[in-house]
Amino acid sequence: MAPNPVIGRFAPSPTGDLHFGSLVAAVGSYLEAKCAGGWWLLRIEDIDPPREVPGSADRIIRDLEHLGMFPDEPVLYQSSRIHSYEDAVKRLMERGLAYPCACSRKDLPASGVYPGTCRNGIPAGKIARSIRLAVDNGDYAFTDRVQGLVEDLPASLTGDFVIRRADGLYAYQLAVVVDDEFQRVTQVVRGADLLESTSRQICLQKALGYKTPAYMHLPVATTEEGKKLGKRFQADPINQQNPAYAVYQALTFLGQRPPSGLSLASLWEWALQHWDSSLIPRCSSILPGKV
Ligand code: GLU
Repeated sequence: MAPNPVIGRFAPSPTGDLHFGSLVAAVGSYLEAKCAGGWWLLRIEDIDPPREVPGSADRIIRDLEHLGMFPDEPVLYQSSRIHSYEDAVKRLMERGLAYPCACSRKDLPASGVYPGTCRNGIPAGKIARSIRLAVDNGDYAFTDRVQGLVEDLPASLTGDFVIRRADGLYAYQLAVVVDDEFQRVTQVVRGADLLESTSRQICLQKALGYKTPAYMHLPVATTEEGKKLGKRFQADPINQQNPAYAVYQALTFLGQRPPSGLSLASLWEWALQHWDSSLIPRCSSILPGKV
């Protein structure tokens, strides 16, 4: 590989089978990396056991292979990375950038913005539950390759946010940042439902001294009611009887114009030659079939 290779990734949580919404993120991240001559990695985000569906990680990996997508490195499981999250939190605490917090959800104001109650110490008589990042007033704006300029300010969006939860589990925001750095990821391509998390992730990257990857947030598929088509909304698993059609639909959703009726192998060949990210609709959600 070249000295500064492009590295993309797909990072599903094993909370259900691969569905159309996650397939779109898989196909987009795959083509954006491969067409730049880069690598595509797969990370299973299994750090929240209560939300996991047994067997779904294996089924996601098998389904991706069946659809023609093979990662360039062995699959990384977040459940094997807990010590790294622990180290990152320890470093942040030692540098005064993170602190223990005794507040529970019911102590938070309706705005959801943490008022900093425990920033200067836990109030007398309370015990530490979670750990929060001390968010500064810095500017964490970024230019997304599809959504354009995003100027979210973590300080006013969420305030100091949780990086280790009261149940002892590490928060998604922390794990994703530590692992994108560990896997040398240079571009994050995922659904626009995660757009709002990105400024918090950039904030964590800066606090940990990491590089910030490029971001591309793809429109997400929504239901008639405008809800994200995802595992939680019982979206149908991908029809594995016709993998070429599933990939064709994902490409069409992303604004590409593949010829119909190609075999899976020919469709990938076409996609690797014709992928054009400038055709991706510049919006955050789309009703499938209305592309
Ligand atoms: N694990 C997250 C999900 O399945 C995605 C994380 C990411 O791509 O940053 O929604």
